[in-house]
Amino acid sequence: MPQGILVFIEQRNGEIKTQSLQALSQGKYLSEKLGGPLGAVLIGNNLAGLVEELKSYGPEKVYLADDSSLAHYKNAAYAEAVIKAVGEFDPKLVVFSATAMGKDLAPICAARIGCGLCSDVTAVSVESDTVTLRKPIYAGKCFANYRSKAFPLMISLRPNVFASEPLDNPVSPEIHNIEAAISERDPFETELVTSEAGEVDVAEASIIVSGGRGIKDTENIKLIQELAAELQAAVGASRAIVDAGWIEHKHQVGQTGKTVSPNLYIAIGISGAIQHLAGMSSSKLIVAINKDSDAPIFQHCDFGIVGDLFKVVPALTEKVKGARS
Ligand code: FAD
Repeated sequence: MPQGILVFIEQRNGEIKTQSLQALSQGKYLSEKLGGPLGAVLIGNNLAGLVEELKSYGPEKVYLADDSSLAHYKNAAYAEAVIKAVGEFDPKLVVFSATAMGKDLAPICAARIGCGLCSDVTAVSVESDTVTLRKPIYAGKCFANYRSKAFPLMISLRPNVFASEPLDNPVSPEIHNIEAAISERDPFETELVTSEAGEVDVAEASIIVSGGRGIKDTENIKLIQELAAELQAAVGASRAIVDAGWIEHKHQVGQTGKTVSPNLYIAIGISGAIQHLAGMSSSKLIVAINKDSDAPIFQHCDFGIVGDLFKVVPALTEKVKGARS
């Protein structure tokens, strides 16, 4: 009989992703609602220090696959480790964060276990033994609620939608070691591409400054970059300026780009097409700067500045600079 919640903890280069701590906090809430223990599965190399960090989030059991061959993500081996942990723990829910890694790993695990997967979930509620999962569909035009009482079930949570809440009293979890070293037969080769030093990935940033076609020219991307640098934010982009070749695709936000949920999203010279909104409408605070007061983005923002971005953005950058010094 499945019980409890098992959360996949993502680490990169020996650091736990904030989004996994968000998933673990949500896992704690769900284990209280559904009953049963909270477990975590952590895969990588030299993980002892990371277990210490997890203790503040309340897992009663931690499944560790600690091997030098697992230092970097390999989906076959990581899936094997998760599946072994699921076999031992027998959870009702397996929770991932819908990061790039979570989006790759969760479907492999669900397919191999033969259970359901609900991805990119933005709200979870529990009533007796039924779990209700809310997620955006049709490029964010509407939300669907999925109900399930068939377990095990896998879910991935949209990053930065849920809070990470450390407990006042850390726990001492049981540690279970699992074997999942990469075998020579591993069919997958994963190439790790890291972003430039100091660059914040839009998918993980808590502040994003995004530019659109309103910036007019590739040269003017520096206006966006300067404000982003002052705010220690990531640079985002609409597809229009990616297609124009003004900025790389990794910055694109939207239906065919990245889905983001930062605390603050500043949309500059972006009209607010549905495909752009699909990627950023779950941001906690949206500020739009556009010279057209009828631009659709103004229907979706918390604060709007109607004005010429070539005047507003440098003034804003100066203000932030002044406030920081
Ligand atoms: P525009 O729509 O041209 O808007 C430019 C805005 O800048 C205007 O509102 C204008 O008023 C304002 N402006 C101009 N000059 C100034 C100034 N001086 N000061 C202030 N404001 C100014 N788009 C995405 O962004 N992400 C996606 O992932 C994505 N996926 C797509 C998938 C599909 C299948 C399709 C069909 C489209 C997709 N699109 C996507 C494209 C989307 O439909 C829009 O074309 C695109 O978002 C428009 O980008 P934009 O807002 O930068 O440009």
